[in-house]
Amino acid sequence: MRYFAERAWIGGRVEHDVALEVDGGRFTAVTPGSAPDGTRLRGLVLPGLANAHSHAFHRALRGRTHGDRGSFWTWRELMYEVAGRLDPDSYYPLARAVYGEMALAGITSVGEFHYLHHNPDGTPYADPNEMGHALIRAARDAGIRITLLDTLYLTSSVDGKPLEGVQRRFGDGDLDGWLTRTSALRDGEGVRIGAAAHSVRAVPARFLGGLAGRAPLHIHLSEQRAENEQCQAVHGCTPTELLHRHGVLGPGTTAVHATHLTDGDIKLLGGSRTGVCLCPTTERDLADGVGPGRALADAGSPLSLGSDSHAVIDLFEEARGMELDERLATERRGHFSAAEMLAAAAAHTALGWDDAGEIAVGKRADLVAVSLDSVRTAGADPAGAVFAATGADVTDVVVDGRVVVDGGRHTGFDVAAALREALS
Ligand SMILES: [Zn+2]
Repeated sequence: MRYFAERAWIGGRVEHDVALEVDGGRFTAVTPGSAPDGTRLRGLVLPGLANAHSHAFHRALRGRTHGDRGSFWTWRELMYEVAGRLDPDSYYPLARAVYGEMALAGITSVGEFHYLHHNPDGTPYADPNEMGHALIRAARDAGIRITLLDTLYLTSSVDGKPLEGVQRRFGDGDLDGWLTRTSALRDGEGVRIGAAAHSVRAVPARFLGGLAGRAPLHIHLSEQRAENEQCQAVHGCTPTELLHRHGVLGPGTTAVHATHLTDGDIKLLGGSRTGVCLCPTTERDLADGVGPGRALADAGSPLSLGSDSHAVIDLFEEARGMELDERLATERRGHFSAAEMLAAAAAHTALGWDDAGEIAVGKRADLVAVSLDSVRTAGADPAGAVFAATGADVTDVVVDGRVVVDGGRHTGFDVAAALREALS
């Protein structure tokens, strides 16, 4: 297959008239300054975007939970109501529709932080991984890759209170229970099995060491000040220090949010090359605060981005958020370059896809064409398109060499209709 991109984002800058040859789902040639030949992609062609932090079912809360006061904790009660209603038969169509929405926005890999494992009373389904398999099938049918970050979730508080109410669906009893269940999950074409620890609230410290060395391994970290206070009270240290003590930090680990950190935490995360996934639109929506993204990057942490609660599914907005929210917090501009913002939006490495996220020979052939003549992007400098474009400006998406979005439409199904049906 041969594509011709008028402009393509290669090596952190815009190249012109780029011939792209694809074979076996990989780029076999990438040649700027070529004559037009092959399927023409207009606008600016970006690498596939990576949504490194998703809870697919949270999409059901969009437009329903933002108007009132309250906090992360009151929002969580509403989220638990949705979590209590779903079963594999209803989660599959919801997740397929949500992943379809992601595909339309140029997302080619999703990291699904999955803890909705069991029946509402905590008993396993006949296949204890039925919910995980529903998510994998949903991503496949939506045409995107999935890293299933199967989540260890055992307690409801840092001091080890048992799971209660809907949380019983999340638990596997102990580390061995989780290891036994997840050992039946397998990598496949476009599917990678990763691990997650929900947080230091949900995983007792004695089990953290059992996760050390796994990759990719994700964990919610210091999203809330209350978590930090509880961790200090119980363990006498910050959540980051607790992870460090148990050997959990490292390049295969991604800390999600990392909002309320000490200077020492930033040094530990950066020094160990632990990744950090920022979720600016969710952190905004839940009034969580602004994490120290620039300081973490300077300390050595690779940054990725996730839409998390799916109040918005738009990696351009997340990428702008990492820069613009930091401007508000510091009253200074220019923390991240456009190249750094787009690199964070295409950080497939955080999901274990080291061979994706760049338009380069040998890499997975993901392409995302973004219109430069929409009402939002008309007149924008292509090099600054990340400051202007939204997911709605994505016209064409190729995942592993397969066309998934063509002229703004998903090639597999009507995503808006699927969302309406799943959310009715
Ligand atoms: Zn999350």
